[in-house]
Amino acid sequence: MKCKYCSQEAVYHRKISNELVCRAHFLQTIEKKIRKTVRKYQMFNPQEKVVVGVSGGKDSLVVLYNVLKLQERNPNSPVVEAILIDEGIEGYRQESIQIAIGMCKKWNVPLHIVSFKDGFGTSLDDVIEKLPSLEINACTVCGTVRRRLLNQKARELHADKLAIGHNLDDQAETFMQNIVRNDLKQLINHPPQGNELDPTGQFIPRIKPLMMIPEAEITRYCYYNNFPIQSTPCPYVEGFFILRREIQGFLNHLENQSAEIKYNLLKMHENLIGRVALKLETSQKISVGEKKSKNFCPACHSLMGDQRKMCYYCELQQKLS
Ligand code: SF4
Repeated sequence: MKCKYCSQEAVYHRKISNELVCRAHFLQTIEKKIRKTVRKYQMFNPQEKVVVGVSGGKDSLVVLYNVLKLQERNPNSPVVEAILIDEGIEGYRQESIQIAIGMCKKWNVPLHIVSFKDGFGTSLDDVIEKLPSLEINACTVCGTVRRRLLNQKARELHADKLAIGHNLDDQAETFMQNIVRNDLKQLINHPPQGNELDPTGQFIPRIKPLMMIPEAEITRYCYYNNFPIQSTPCPYVEGFFILRREIQGFLNHLENQSAEIKYNLLKMHENLIGRVALKLETSQKISVGEKKSKNFCPACHSLMGDQRKMCYYCELQQKLS
């Protein structure tokens, strides 16, 4: 079978568009889709400083590589930098740190490594045994602290945008998770392309250039580009993400019957935000500007949820210290 775009043998059948593509056109079509996504959602422009959150995992390498390619088109673009958050997970994080260091060196990207120990005061390994009695799971601590440290470092680097490697599968799973939890606020306030601009400047807007790329295509993209792929899974993943894992299995099952299912969920999320959020704006949608006057954490002065007395990051820090 020949590639749709040239006379080479096809290596991949993209079911959603019924395209057969060779290796070179597989890579080209992925990069084109990323460019179109960045343009469509105005994620960043050549004058903006973009920092990329990297973990050393495949998604983060793909997003870094593509952001770099886009910004390198303009010789006056600010330098793209990378931030890696080291949670302190023995036997897991070392491999991905080595991958990130190696790839950043190869691509000439300044890499900043921030550890939980330095930023939060303790590593994840050091608090893991306390978590069951507090009924907190490792991924909650990990996600909360990682988000905070990433944002802090991005601000320190004067970033305009913080790019992260969320792919189409991540987007579809998060959307479904919010649906089954009946969490309209999360759903409306977190559009698939990333966070809204924060008028207070506390949060660097996060962007997701890979939001339209399925995970399976990211893996293939890494393989064809000879990007290293981390082999060690996180030891804490097994016990957690139960709902998310169930949703993942369900969506993958549906995708076998109907290739467009994850794109449809992404579209549905956008439609909901477009049609419902506007109507809810004055009642349920939380405006960041509104929060400014009344919901700062007394400990760290960060914006926080309406009902909170302290932000969740500081609460975790207190509980785990
Ligand atoms: Fe962190 Fe959970 Fe991912 Fe492990 S699986 S790195 S604990 S979010």
